[in-house]
Amino acid sequence: MLDVAYFSMEIALSSGMSTYSGGLGVLAGDTLKTFADFGYSALGITLLNEQGYVEQEIDSTGRQISQIEKWDKEKYLTKLPFKIEVPFKDRSITCAVWKYDIVGQSKEIVPIYFIDSNDPTNNEYDRTLTSYLYGGDVQYRLCQEQILGLGGLLLLEKLKYNPEKVRVYHLNEGHASFVGLSLYEQAKKMFPTHKKAMDYVGSKLVFTTHTPVEAGHDRFLITNLEKVLPTSLFENIPKAAFIEDKLCMTRLSLHFSGIVTGVAKAHEKVTEKMFPKYDVIPVTNGVYHMEWTNPLFRKLYDEYIPEWREDPSFLRKVMNIPDDKIWATHLEAKKELIDYINAISPNKFSVDVCTLGYARRFTSYKRPTLILADLDELERKISTVGRLQIIFAGEAHPHDKKSSELIRKIFQKIKKHKGKISIVFLEDYDMDLAAKLVAGVDVWLNTPLQKHEASGTSGMKAALNAIPHLSVLDGWWPEGWIEGVTGWSMGTHVTEATLNNQASWNLEVVDLYDKLATKVLPLYYQNRSGFVEMMKHSAALNGSYFNTHRMVNDYISKVYFPLENKP
Ligand SMILES: *Cc1c(COP(=O)(O)O)cnc(C)c1O
Repeated sequence: MLDVAYFSMEIALSSGMSTYSGGLGVLAGDTLKTFADFGYSALGITLLNEQGYVEQEIDSTGRQISQIEKWDKEKYLTKLPFKIEVPFKDRSITCAVWKYDIVGQSKEIVPIYFIDSNDPTNNEYDRTLTSYLYGGDVQYRLCQEQILGLGGLLLLEKLKYNPEKVRVYHLNEGHASFVGLSLYEQAKKMFPTHKKAMDYVGSKLVFTTHTPVEAGHDRFLITNLEKVLPTSLFENIPKAAFIEDKLCMTRLSLHFSGIVTGVAKAHEKVTEKMFPKYDVIPVTNGVYHMEWTNPLFRKLYDEYIPEWREDPSFLRKVMNIPDDKIWATHLEAKKELIDYINAISPNKFSVDVCTLGYARRFTSYKRPTLILADLDELERKISTVGRLQIIFAGEAHPHDKKSSELIRKIFQKIKKHKGKISIVFLEDYDMDLAAKLVAGVDVWLNTPLQKHEASGTSGMKAALNAIPHLSVLDGWWPEGWIEGVTGWSMGTHVTEATLNNQASWNLEVVDLYDKLATKVLPLYYQNRSGFVEMMKHSAALNGSYFNTHRMVNDYISKVYFPLENKP
């Protein structure tokens, strides 16, 4: 019996494998690594993404140049000795399958399967379908999702996991929604009534939605679907999944899944408002502690809290670690980051200056440029307290001109700004760079538009490295935030009603600047032991909780296990 078959369009396993673009893939990888630690009977299914996600370069004007980041699949994966035939409307696509083994801390294995359509028997177009993560046009994406969903189920059967042998199919975001459609097709043959077939599918299907904004959900025109989806499957699509002439993949999964989960408590509320007919269970995200704790902090925790590796809830005992050890370890991690920056940038960063980190996928709702709104004003406000350094990193989707423009804007600000605040933008944000950043800065910053951040996980990575968080109260932060203890909140002035009102945006800038000038910098420069206390609280309260061990336990108790009794 297989406990969980976990489907995800992207799975981040190591930074040498360019099979992911950002948070969704990192969450998938961290989850599966935790399954392996638990010795849970699970596996992951994804596409090969042979040409990887784009690699970011930025030219001197701040223009993002995206390049293919090809990775060496043979170095990491083993090709399996069989193929699968994924049904399309007028043809089938032959796919090879590659395997990667995650080895857990007790040596237990969770295999990850990568579906590969680059088979010489396919036509040229079909051969490219598993090449580019989030590449190509809408039709390309539709074909990819068909390979992931239908191909994934066929793969499971090849592995002798037919539906009776799989307890849970867990869909990480709507890209794998065709799993539900295909399972229903099978259930129809097993049960006499529609209701019984739906109950059967519902008793096995879990859907995690990550997107609090309707426009972010994948939609496909019926005319496109009719070109590729086998007719029998097309006919099973419920009316409720269509919005006018488009299929909404989120609605398709909502329809078939027995349990729907959101990725933070705040996100549950937003999702239920968007889909009032559905009950959403919040399972707040986490990060895998063995992935995101810097080696220097690992060593420190090993010395004082040896239990933390097996059970990261023991990080509460960070409170027992002497302050000077925490600070010395932090400074070492910070020095590594600052040395890295000074080696590649003309900007001279200093270990002695309070350093803010901001890194994420670039998109307008995350408001990466918020802190740069009025640098002269920020300098004026902090002039009597101490200096500030800001580090940015992040990629814009290559097709997203508006978001690339945000990167350009940061570059222009950096160029123009001649004041005391040092700012740098680091290229090619990936797992490696993320790991350096979340351990090397002093404060982790997040400034999304409220109600738009589903969870956010980089602040959790920072907490594992005893780094406090300064953020808008959105995503996971309302759950981890204790003002002045684990970090700080800012800005709740922009709401749905004031979205286009510049004055309310300005109020959030004022909030942010005031927090920095009256709380963050004074604590950092004038009360170092208070700052270290806050660092310890970040790890002890938030590192011990916002990890994937706690999250997977939540999935087991609130989602996978109750699913057995559904409906
Ligand atoms: C953790 C991580 C993310 C997600 O961070 P958010 O806070 O959710 O934006 C994105 N990209 C990389 C490379 C990461 O490591």
